[in-house]
Amino acid sequence: MIKWKTFAIGWSLALALLLFAQHKSTMPDQTPYRTVVDLTHDLNDHSPNWEGTEQSPFTARELGNIERDGYYSRIFTTQEHYGTHLDAPAHFARGMWTVDQIPPERLVRPLVVLNVRSKATGHSDYEISVQDIEEWESRNGEIPSGAVVMAYTGWEDRWSSLKAFRNAATDGVPHFPGYSLEAAQFLVKTRNVVALGIDTMSIDPGASETYPVHQFTAKESVYQLENVANLGLVPPSGATIVVAPVKLENGSGGPARLLALVK
Ligand SMILES: [Zn+2]
Repeated sequence: MIKWKTFAIGWSLALALLLFAQHKSTMPDQTPYRTVVDLTHDLNDHSPNWEGTEQSPFTARELGNIERDGYYSRIFTTQEHYGTHLDAPAHFARGMWTVDQIPPERLVRPLVVLNVRSKATGHSDYEISVQDIEEWESRNGEIPSGAVVMAYTGWEDRWSSLKAFRNAATDGVPHFPGYSLEAAQFLVKTRNVVALGIDTMSIDPGASETYPVHQFTAKESVYQLENVANLGLVPPSGATIVVAPVKLENGSGGPARLLALVK
């Protein structure tokens, strides 16, 4: 009897393993989404940094390797605002949410992509306008309440070059596209957005010295996503974004994995 039981349990386990293996291999076909687009740049030591220093704010050092230790492991350091990352409202407004405090329901939202690439090309100081939003809405309907709105300026094409991505003039002032304050106010006040994102280093235009869009949105509990990748691969409307920042206690922001779920 015991032997039979052992046999039965063993056989069940074998069957479960077989089914699990099959399940794993068939998973991609069973997703309810047509595709998942990764909106995240690789986190490494050769990405553009805000200060424009040759020395990267990111380092990674090996702690263990498989030949020597039997396992692979590293220690890394990074700025909170480096690579594809999230700015928490606490970054610009005292007492507002730090990155770990942003409610999770604000991190899985409808995704809206404002494609201003043709307007921004050749205009480094381009500011996303209320008119850009109106043009989007005339084609796609009103922006759904509680969305994450991204601006696709095409600036991500410069990602591999620190110099081109910061685009500093001879006086040291960077120049790259961002949101106008009017557009941000419109999106927050009338469309109830939870976040603004962009494929440049900042939702404020590069030449801004007072960061009015950061100031305004932070006080409204709206978070920001910067250095976003692959926005040209997602539709203007209909996708869902999963925003997964590192849950860093007291963080003013942090590296984030951004995934667009496209139906
Ligand atoms: Zn930031």
